Amino acid sequence: MQYCMVVMTWQRVSMEKLIKKLRADYPDLVFKPGLACCWSPEYGEILYENSGKAHSIEGLLHELGHARLEHKGYVSDLELLQKEVDAWEEAKRLANMYDVPFSEDHMQDCLDTYRDWIYKRSTCPQCLSTGIQKDEHHYHCLNCSHIWGVTASRFRRPYRRSKK
Ligand SMILES: [Zn+2]
Ligand SMILES: [Zn+2]
Repeated sequence: MQYCMVVMTWQRVSMEKLIKKLRADYPDLVFKPGLACCWSPEYGEILYENSGKAHSIEGLLHELGHARLEHKGYVSDLELLQKEVDAWEEAKRLANMYDVPFSEDHMQDCLDTYRDWIYKRSTCPQCLSTGIQKDEHHYHCLNCSHIWGVTASRFRRPYRRSKK
């Protein structure tokens, strides 16, 4: 469809413009095109998608949100979720500031993915109550006292894990 072509071309142009502005406004950060968007606190690097894919601008601003809020790592699932919420709020503010489109639906979809993931991890496999997280890799059920392990690798990390 011709409309899609126009949108894609426009998006690519506005992405290039935005990157130019961001490089000028954030000289301490490195902006690099990549296959997925990602914030790397060790290197002060933001990878962004420049394939003209839908929501790549939101993705870029979201990673910049993590960078501006100096997110370096997290201990619990809820802390991770809170940081995601904060980075998205920051992305929304940045989109407004740089006058680029921002999809609330996309933001909610991304946050729902995290919420679903945490819901699954925190559900007690024995009695289906919601447990509380003991440490990075364990949940504890207050209802039946069951303790279960959770892996770190089941979810693609928005940024690399680091110890406090
Ligand atoms: Zn239980
Ligand atoms: Zn994120």
